[in-house]
Amino acid sequence: MNIERRVKETIKKYRMFSKKDKILVALSGGKDSTSILFILKKLNYDVSGLMIDLYLGEWSKIHRKNMESFCKEFKIPFHLVDLRKEIGQGICFIKSVLKREKNLTGCTVCGITKRWILNKWAKKLKADVLVTGHNLDDECQTILMNFLKGNIYLGINSHPITGEKKVEGFVQRVKPFFFVPESEIKKYALEKNFKILYDRCPCAIGTYRVETRSWLKNISDKEKKLIVKNWIKILPKLKKKKNLEFKKCKICGDPSRGEICRACEIFNVINNIKNK
Ligand code: AMP
Ligand code: ZN
Repeated sequence: MNIERRVKETIKKYRMFSKKDKILVALSGGKDSTSILFILKKLNYDVSGLMIDLYLGEWSKIHRKNMESFCKEFKIPFHLVDLRKEIGQGICFIKSVLKREKNLTGCTVCGITKRWILNKWAKKLKADVLVTGHNLDDECQTILMNFLKGNIYLGINSHPITGEKKVEGFVQRVKPFFFVPESEIKKYALEKNFKILYDRCPCAIGTYRVETRSWLKNISDKEKKLIVKNWIKILPKLKKKKNLEFKKCKICGDPSRGEICRACEIFNVINNIKNK
């Protein structure tokens, strides 16, 4: 089935959003988020783009310029959020400090930081829904990685609709590419001749995700689809077993499993370093 039809079906099946909704697409500048923005615009949805400038040197600069031109060309509103203005530091500093102080890996820290900022800005911009470019390969990696590490519950957000039901304080996050293999998205972006970079994040080295991605290359797309489909089947049972109630983070007020959300824990470590 062609990629655009698959996206349409996933949106419909999971009732992700409608033509009335204000949709914000989280743009990394890569093939996945650029392609989903393009497809949603083509399908006449009310879309805008949101990019966080992570300050990863030339890599971030090129991605930013590419997305500015892309959105201009297709008449899509574009919002740029400056990480240094938000948190006071670029992502490399944040990651190094968290590695040293808490032994947290780079991708975990970056993921938590990005999710918190995206949610903050989606609320600010009054978006009804936040779209990310996560694809079948990403989701498969998340599920298997957490499973192999024994952290099954960390994969709980691996679903086309994160959280499934709305949680006050979180803008609903959705993944229309959930069932689309990365290779097909790459083919699509190349065919459309998007002016984008295809390199991976320069910081994603030596992490467990990178390792998982590498051995997952030996698994066919058909098997990957089976992994995510069966995961979706067991998710409701897992959720029933675990108390997934949210409290309010004492610092930022976002929904949180603990007294303080994971993003504020990170920001606390950074602030303590700055004040030393
Ligand atoms: P990644 O975590 O890099 O695998 O990216 C997963 C998804 O998160 C992408 O498809 C985007 O939708 C979103 N994303 C990643 N990086 C950024 C960024 N710098 N600004 C906004 N959204 C991003
Ligand atoms: Zn918080």
